[in-house]
Amino acid sequence: MGPASMSGEPPRASGPGDGRDPAGREGGDAFAVARRRMVEEQLVAKGIRSPRVLEAMGSVPRHRFVDPGFLGRAYGDHALPTAEGQTISQPWIVARMLELLAAEPTDRVLEVGTGSGYQTALLSRLAERVFSVERVASLLRGAQARLDQLGVRNVALRHGDGSLGWQEFAPYARVLVSAAAPRVPDALRAQLGEGGVLVIPVGGPQLQHLEVWHRMPGDRWRHQRHGECRFVPLLGRDAWRQRQETEQ
Ligand code: SAH
Repeated sequence: MGPASMSGEPPRASGPGDGRDPAGREGGDAFAVARRRMVEEQLVAKGIRSPRVLEAMGSVPRHRFVDPGFLGRAYGDHALPTAEGQTISQPWIVARMLELLAAEPTDRVLEVGTGSGYQTALLSRLAERVFSVERVASLLRGAQARLDQLGVRNVALRHGDGSLGWQEFAPYARVLVSAAAPRVPDALRAQLGEGGVLVIPVGGPQLQHLEVWHRMPGDRWRHQRHGECRFVPLLGRDAWRQRQETEQ
């Protein structure tokens, strides 16, 4: 069978859609070929180095997280629309954020913006436990169903305002925000443990920079600003307050 097309028709697959394979054990079908190409051509070729991140990106079936209408483009080099006007980010930016996060296998991670659950599934392979908060209930239900189908067990999802974090399970070794914030929300800083790392897109509604915050002993902070990115807005009490604010 030839390689899956990156655009146009869905790849002819030898049964990728039965919904029963656990994350990471899908192989030998056209989607697996497309996934390997994605890793080589979009990630390795563009500077992603972390072996653990590359392994996760090569294992999690991204096509399970996109709208069926976009199946043939699931492994393309672009973001894709999901339900409720949200997006599943381009593979490269997902991998870059995960690389900057540098989660360890023993880490407890907080994710803000579950969306489709794709990045959550990746995090589930990189960390011990993942706590993920999403403000849109219907998205959360979809994400839960996909993660269940893939047999992902070390993830807890919550409907709520992630700009306030998820206090109950703090402190977290890592915090990953996948929506654009005007600044780093206070609660997310407070819930990050000493030695922890927080990755977040910060900036205006149209354009942000990826920021990485390290919490050092004695509540000292060090942060670096990485490249430009474009995320949908983080809407919440300690974020953008309403859509109008982000549409100026
Ligand atoms: N990582 C996701 C994509 C995230 S898109 C994936 O892999 O599919 C950003 C998500 O953040 C959207 O689903 C949006 O509803 C959510 N979001 C925006 N503001 C939020 C908030 N305050 N708390 C939790 N989720 C929020």
